Amino acid sequence: MDFELSETHRAIQAAARDFASAEIAPHATQWDRDERFPTEIIPKLGKLGFLGIQIDPHYGGAGFDTLTYAIVVEEISRADGSLGLTVASHNGLGSAHIATFGNDAQRAKYLPKLASGEWLGAWALTEAGSGSDAAALITRARRDGDFWVLDGAKMFITQGSVAGVTVVLASNDPAAKQRGITAFALDAGTPGLDAHKLRGKMGVRSSDTAELSLKDVRVHDSQRIGDVGAGFTDALRILDKGRISIAAMSLGLGEAALAAAITYAKEREQFGHPISEFQALQWMLADSRTELDAARFLVWRAAALADQGKPFTREASMAKLFASEAAGRVCDHAVQIHGGAGYTSHFPVERYLRDARMCRIGEGTSEIQRRVIARSIVS
Ligand SMILES: Cc1cc2nc3c(=O)[nH]c(=O)nc-3n(C[C@H](O)[C@H](O)[C@H](O)COP(=O)(O)OP(=O)(O)OC[C@H]3O[C@@H](n4cnc5c(N)ncnc54)[C@H](O)[C@@H]3O)c2cc1C
Repeated sequence: MDFELSETHRAIQAAARDFASAEIAPHATQWDRDERFPTEIIPKLGKLGFLGIQIDPHYGGAGFDTLTYAIVVEEISRADGSLGLTVASHNGLGSAHIATFGNDAQRAKYLPKLASGEWLGAWALTEAGSGSDAAALITRARRDGDFWVLDGAKMFITQGSVAGVTVVLASNDPAAKQRGITAFALDAGTPGLDAHKLRGKMGVRSSDTAELSLKDVRVHDSQRIGDVGAGFTDALRILDKGRISIAAMSLGLGEAALAAAITYAKEREQFGHPISEFQALQWMLADSRTELDAARFLVWRAAALADQGKPFTREASMAKLFASEAAGRVCDHAVQIHGGAGYTSHFPVERYLRDARMCRIGEGTSEIQRRVIARSIVS
């Protein structure tokens, strides 16, 4: 068993880290304050191959493996959780759905634009009434000859108001429940499709989150991604991989928080000593380091299984569950170690804590991950 990254993985990690510290970290606090999606950084991410991480080079992607996807998301998230979420969801949800289940024509149409960053991809499963119980969605797709007409609304869609294309899951046969759900690629500007940016999020504030409304959205059958009725099972496969990236995002935020806590603990003095000398704080640092290492092994194991073509549903859920909850504890310790300073936006640890909170909710809550894991044990 080898716990070391390969030379290639280390090189990509270094490139992502250098880029993130130079071009993202200096701006992250301001983007968060302004709740501003940083459009200007997207072409740069595209140039580095970070928007087509797993897309086939034939379509302009980087053709990297899942472990690389996790590494890149971790490094971007160290600097900015919001942009980490953008990279995670663009690669792992919208683009991955088209790359995995689209036909050749659909891949040729969308993947080069998505890999370069000319377009961002979004993925719309959640609705106001259906989150954890995603198969209960009520957005309808009615067939009309060679066309489909979509009506409904989607909630909490990352990149919802900035995407060039959104993969929308809709029910073509409510009686068939999850076997009656189909996916469609909807280009921005399609008549009847509107996005309303959601403001006031607790964290990941500079990532774009939107509510979508679909009113008589008419699309040709050539925009259908995958088989009729296969959308939900396809979506579950997409979420498996996506969960690895939310786990990687958690890892990035946790690592950033721990690094900030160590620096502060060595500099800050109380009672005539650096606070890093107090055992109470040393234990917080020790627990944080241990939890992050454990989370890393779970994330890398899930990614390695995916890359070996082995089943990884349970392992992806375990990685997401543990890494997101560990990141919450690590970020909370980091705020505590900063004392009052940690409670202000003059230090980034409060942002890390707010951003990490999302990781226990998005792409399936902790409770849903436990359900997935438990089912695999007792079924
Ligand atoms: C910032 C952000 C970005 C997002 N991006 C996207 C996106 O790009 N695309 C998309 O489709 N969705 C997206 N989501 C939606 C996200 O996936 C859902 O919010 C999540 O799945 C939870 O659904 P819900 O919010 O409806 O909560 P609910 O399902 O209503 O859950 C409420 C509570 O009940 C618990 N619960 C529900 N069912 C069970 C059960 N069976 N057993 C135990 N506990 C249960 C939950 O764990 C939770 O604690 C995003 C959400 C956020 C916050």
